[in-house]
Amino acid sequence: MTRVDNIVETDGALILGAGIAGLFTALKLAPMPSIVLAGTRPGLSGSSAWAQGGIAASVGEGDSWQSHAHDTMVAGAGLCDAAIVDLVAKLASARIDDLVGYGAPFDRNGDGSLAVGREAAHSLPRIVHVKGDGAGAAISATLAARATETNCITLLEGFHAIELAMENGRVTGIFARSGIGADARLILFRARAVILATGGLGALYSVTTNPLESRGEGLGMAARAGALIADPEFVQFHPTAIAVGRDPAPLATEALRGEGASLVNTRGERFMTAIHSDAELAPRDIVARAIHRQIMSGQKVYLDCRQAIGASFADHFPTVFAACMSAGIDPAREMIPVAPAAHYHMGGIASDAKGRSSRPGLWVVGECAATGLHGANRLASNSLLEGLVFGALVADDVRGQLAAGAMRGTPPAPQRFASPAPPHVLRGAMTGGVGVERDADGLRTALDVITRLETTSSEPALLNMTAAAKLVTAAALARHESRGGHWRSDFPQTAATGTRTFLTLADAQAIADEAQALPRRARK
Ligand SMILES: Cc1cc2nc3c(=O)[nH]c(=O)nc-3n(C[C@H](O)[C@H](O)[C@H](O)COP(=O)(O)OP(=O)(O)OC[C@H]3O[C@@H](n4cnc5c(N)ncnc54)[C@H](O)[C@@H]3O)c2cc1C
Repeated sequence: MTRVDNIVETDGALILGAGIAGLFTALKLAPMPSIVLAGTRPGLSGSSAWAQGGIAASVGEGDSWQSHAHDTMVAGAGLCDAAIVDLVAKLASARIDDLVGYGAPFDRNGDGSLAVGREAAHSLPRIVHVKGDGAGAAISATLAARATETNCITLLEGFHAIELAMENGRVTGIFARSGIGADARLILFRARAVILATGGLGALYSVTTNPLESRGEGLGMAARAGALIADPEFVQFHPTAIAVGRDPAPLATEALRGEGASLVNTRGERFMTAIHSDAELAPRDIVARAIHRQIMSGQKVYLDCRQAIGASFADHFPTVFAACMSAGIDPAREMIPVAPAAHYHMGGIASDAKGRSSRPGLWVVGECAATGLHGANRLASNSLLEGLVFGALVADDVRGQLAAGAMRGTPPAPQRFASPAPPHVLRGAMTGGVGVERDADGLRTALDVITRLETTSSEPALLNMTAAAKLVTAAALARHESRGGHWRSDFPQTAATGTRTFLTLADAQAIADEAQALPRRARK
């Protein structure tokens, strides 16, 4: 690590990430102090502000936490940790109450009860939402407002974290950059507890619904510090990103299919009815694969909302409506072109039931963590929930280690910073070789690209991204079966017994080395 320009210390917690997971953890920690460090503005930051559907919780009439847990287990295709699933499903309604207490403006029924919507693979309507498709923006804004007015929370935006600080095997802080060119500064933030809430890695793919800041840097930083990583090969591809050539691709929420919108190809065929009894509401991986295959066979795929939603589109789904209209498509009258896109990372930094990583001093929460809730495939709208439930659990676990007191050192004023974007070649290799359908040859080609990039740079941000990409790709190469979000065309069967993946970056490197040692012609 090069020269540090400034050291900022707290006897409280240091939280990296100001999405829903990071902000909720800080609020739950109060009155203990915390610094929340983020690249972009809290309230607008990360995937959280973009979430459309809402949060799953068994708060509707006739629903139960057991039914929610059951649906989560089924979606997870044999790899969920049942104890974690029960814990999250049981605690869901209490965390929704917390959000209501913070002022989250959930949609309500005429009698004042929470309105719940239905999404794929949920056996009952159980998604609490805001203004139809505005849950992420509204909840993020609410949490940011509460955090801003909470004195013990220091929100610092405009910092780019690049490495974990370690002392005697314990994580004690984070190195972060601020500013550009001659104004660039490297600051060491030290704290009694370090919590990563850095979100997912969709932006490592060239076709994604994630904001470009979701590029697996927290995962890469933790892996480079020796943390154990779990289930990295499981990436969820959202079936219905709006295919109008935008990066990132706007999302057509699953709730549209929940309302009865159908998927058709260029020939006008409603192909999902022949593939799954739940048709358009089949699990996401099945719908994504079906659309991918249509596209590979030369068809275009459209989401037809004209009958099911029609004139009420603008009122019920204002975010999707605006995205379509800005691309010149009126979804009340025209079909929406769609394609699968990298959307959610089920894997992440391995976490126990308290959010502890395998490295002392480091806790993880939200999409960057792998708690065992999602298994091989996430049930829709379980991710914001996981961030809330584990945010509270992490806060309970670290609270006792913190002390009140003023922050020492003065961080520079927020500034723009220059962070390298994921290289096009990396994003292309991930979408091409580690996407909806994978095989050994494509995975090995992706590993070649990742290794080449690593050898040409010592830039820590890039190495964090390539570390994350390598973990996903190596674990996908090592899993000789298809399950949940991971589909191998050369291993289409599902093994009788499923086991979770746990590996370090060194393990992933060993898989990559072995793959590269194979002569090209023996690779297939
Ligand atoms: C379009 C879309 C729709 C979705 N809809 C839903 C839904 O309806 N329901 C649901 O449950 N889930 C949904 N999801 C998934 C869900 O939004 C995410 O899983 C969740 O918001 C992740 O929250 P988080 O707090 O863990 O991370 P994020 O909200 O992604 O926040 C990550 C934070 O980390 C910061 N960060 C990352 N790296 C660095 C770094 N190196 N330096 C400084 N800061 C850094 C970012 O700036 C950001 O503040 C959706 C996702 C997308 C993309």
